[in-house]
Amino acid sequence: MTFTTEAQAIWDQVPEATRVRLLDSGFCAHCLATRHMELAEGEIRGKELALIGKCGTCGHRVVRLIEI
Ligand SMILES: [Zn+2]
Repeated sequence: MTFTTEAQAIWDQVPEATRVRLLDSGFCAHCLATRHMELAEGEIRGKELALIGKCGTCGHRVVRLIEI
């Protein structure tokens, strides 16, 4: 996983159960459904933490934005 230092610090504060829930609710634009995502990158975008990964079903890029 490639996280920016800032993104890693925020992600580290997220409880394990919440992390699992967040990663299980990524929206895949290819499947047009909520899918489990394989996390690859994390970065800060304005006031949001962007989790970037791949759809666990089709491999399409999935971005999950979380308010921080
Ligand atoms: Zn997919």
